[in-house]
Amino acid sequence: MAVILTFAEHRDGKLRRASLEAVAEASRLAGPLGASVATVVIGSGVSGLAAELGQYGAAKIHVFDDPALGAYATEVWARALAQVVAATKPSAVLIPFTALGKDLAPRLAAKLGAGLVSDCVFLAVKDGRLEARRPMYAGKAFATVRWEGEPQLATLRPNVFMLGAADGSRSAEVVKESVDPSARAKVTAVKATAEGKIELSEAQVIVSGGRGLKGPEHFHLVQELGDAFGAAVGASRAIVDAGWVDHQMQVGQTGKTVSPSLYIACGISGAIQHLAGMSSSRIIVAINKDGDAPIFKVANYGVLGDAFEVLPKLTQAAKAYFASKG
Ligand SMILES: Cc1cc2nc3c(=O)[nH]c(=O)nc-3n(C[C@H](O)[C@H](O)[C@H](O)COP(=O)(O)OP(=O)(O)OC[C@H]3O[C@@H](n4cnc5c(N)ncnc54)[C@H](O)[C@@H]3O)c2cc1C
Repeated sequence: MAVILTFAEHRDGKLRRASLEAVAEASRLAGPLGASVATVVIGSGVSGLAAELGQYGAAKIHVFDDPALGAYATEVWARALAQVVAATKPSAVLIPFTALGKDLAPRLAAKLGAGLVSDCVFLAVKDGRLEARRPMYAGKAFATVRWEGEPQLATLRPNVFMLGAADGSRSAEVVKESVDPSARAKVTAVKATAEGKIELSEAQVIVSGGRGLKGPEHFHLVQELGDAFGAAVGASRAIVDAGWVDHQMQVGQTGKTVSPSLYIACGISGAIQHLAGMSSSRIIVAINKDGDAPIFKVANYGVLGDAFEVLPKLTQAAKAYFASKG
């Protein structure tokens, strides 16, 4: 039986949502391909993650659980994945398009001599093979791509593929694996830059601010609206370059690519480079005082008004709404 293999990324003992999305998408594709879904999880103390992966549709979990695998190392992770690929000969390998996935997938592709389609936003089965859609030219166009040969390697943009509900009655076969942990380059420490903050690329709601806020002393208006929604807070490059906020918060072509359910752009003009990072958001709300601002062309809802008046009112309304919901 054909196999679709996915890679499961985790952080702080929890599976990342994008890993579960990859499993759920693999399960969706498995039907028409007549395939089963297998997943690879690598790390130290990760055996307990297998059950959840099974609930989202993985039939087999290849677990590399070793204290020597505590920190990510491209070389070792690619070696482990290549080992499973060699043993299971999957027709496709799906990897989340996260910072780690962006590092790992090309290394794996080179190791296997396989084609990699990165940043996929849609996958379909055509004539028994995969077909992918991915954005190009900073999101101005979409390319439809097919692979030659196998495995068909793809990275999946987080928050775009449907997760669906976990099925508690499902369980998976766990296969214990081991890999040579030696590496030429090792991670010796990982320092979190924004402890406790919601990761932008995984957030379901994002409130972003731009130069329309006039100065860093007003950015708290964006932060407060974000807090009211329990959202992650992003920014345009203009205000990152101006030093108002950290680069980690930048959304766009040279920042992060995000696909939340709701993206609220406050005082952001909507330059093509900003749109490249957020136009695949499900619902876009723009607050801008210029009716001709390009952001309104992609917005589902537009508020034509002064952010200094609109933001405090919206924050108050959001707080009241969520308080009434308990
Ligand atoms: C190679 C390259 C890569 C780039 N990468 C990125 C990227 O990754 N991300 C990114 O964001 N940009 C990127 N840029 C920059 C991009 O071209 C724009 O310059 C930038 O996005 C503009 O940021 P902004 O919308 O905050 O500012 P502006 O374009 O100055 O827009 C400010 C907006 O605020 C509105 N406004 C003003 N006052 C108010 C008010 N009181 N209330 C409400 N609205 C108000 C204005 O009408 C205007 O639309 C890149 C550029 C290049 C050349």
